[in-house]
Amino acid sequence: MSHQPPKYQAITLRNFRKNALIQRHLSAEQMHAIEVVGNVLPFKVNNYVLDELIDWSNIPEDPIFQLTFPQKEMLAPHDFYLVEKALAENQSKAELTHTVNQIRLGLNPHPAGQMEHNVPLFQNTRLQGIQHKYRETVLFFPKQSQTCHAYCTFCFRWPQFVGMEGLKFAMQETGLLVDYLKANPKVSDVLFTGGDPMIMKANRMEAYLQPLLEKRIPNLINIRIGSKMLGYWPYKLISDPDADDMLRLFERVVKHGYQLSFMAHFNHGRELQTPAAQEAIRRIRNTGAVIRTQSPIMRHINDHPHVWRDMWKQQVRLGCIPYYMFIARDTGAQSYFAVPLERCHRIYREAYQQVGGLARTVRGPSMSADPGKVQILGTVNVGGEKLFNLRFIQSRNPDWVGQPFFARYDPRAIWLDELKPAFDQPNFFFEEPVEISQMN
Ligand SMILES: *Cc1c(COP(=O)(O)O)cnc(C)c1O
Ligand code: SF4
Repeated sequence: MSHQPPKYQAITLRNFRKNALIQRHLSAEQMHAIEVVGNVLPFKVNNYVLDELIDWSNIPEDPIFQLTFPQKEMLAPHDFYLVEKALAENQSKAELTHTVNQIRLGLNPHPAGQMEHNVPLFQNTRLQGIQHKYRETVLFFPKQSQTCHAYCTFCFRWPQFVGMEGLKFAMQETGLLVDYLKANPKVSDVLFTGGDPMIMKANRMEAYLQPLLEKRIPNLINIRIGSKMLGYWPYKLISDPDADDMLRLFERVVKHGYQLSFMAHFNHGRELQTPAAQEAIRRIRNTGAVIRTQSPIMRHINDHPHVWRDMWKQQVRLGCIPYYMFIARDTGAQSYFAVPLERCHRIYREAYQQVGGLARTVRGPSMSADPGKVQILGTVNVGGEKLFNLRFIQSRNPDWVGQPFFARYDPRAIWLDELKPAFDQPNFFFEEPVEISQMN
């Protein structure tokens, strides 16, 4: 590692043109595209990503560049044109915001019905910072973690980062969370999420965790932290001023008898190769926490079996447990990143075949859709008809979990809502037929 650990510097729409690496390696046209697309989708990167992750000799194909920099093709040509025009005409802030928000609303800013279905009502209060979709696991959105150390261009949380009104989840207090966990004895897991909770300072994180430590909640077994810090800013646990405090806090969580699971988001093996990432992984593991890994599969970033094989192998080598392969969600720049379901499965299987058993803990490819997490098990032939074989890994109805079901084969399908039930059934078993009374 370098002798002088770097200080975090954000690179955003406001200052990216001043960055030396960007000036040296990007054309005027590429910078223009960043400006245009970056007005619609969030853009933020940092000096670690630029200095240690991106291979600047391989622009624009470099996967980390694709992961963090807006690309022209992420917007439909007409949308791109509209924003380009608005910027060229020097429209007022209000006009530009109007144009941009129209486009954002066309990008399915709230997929999988999160707003409508998953925010619990508790003691007559809507718990805006909690989502409870699956019986065992509660998602908790601390108010201060609604951002990240850099933004992924495919992120389904993007509306939070661009401040679209009514789309923000956040919760100020853990008091209500604790009451909620106690009142729901089937809940065994709480997952701190965001944004990225590891954006918080250690004392902030401690304020959230303290109530869970003070009085052990008997039904709570696992405290999970979902984070991309290891990929985007590993110095958080090495040289940031609160690095040691955060590690001591992790130790305390473990000492209190909880399992601490660090759900690390990695999209490419490159993120595991830097000395800083490897050091941060060591430090987390030394606290007694376990690191599990997850990533969506996306065109331009990781849509090759060898990328997944190498990433999973490297994760196991570093003591991490591969956990989920997701399918890119139906939001934002999905058309840019989408990989057809059949191809997702082929990539998963080819990679899975090439790794040892300790990497085969990974489940996928899986779609987080409204009824639950749907895994593609492959294609099968039944009575001369080619079908997709699927099952729920996770579901809002626990009875559905693990049940295999079939859909008509469709080589172009990229999401659950494009699939049709097999055997000429009118609907899937998990789709409620619409009641006549509801239609009137
Ligand atoms: C994935 C997910 C979870 C966690 O599911 P596990 O299978 O337990 O990892 C919880 N809530 C929501 C909404 C999820 O999408
Ligand atoms: S780190 Fe996670 S929450 Fe943040 S932009 Fe990336 S995918 Fe989204």
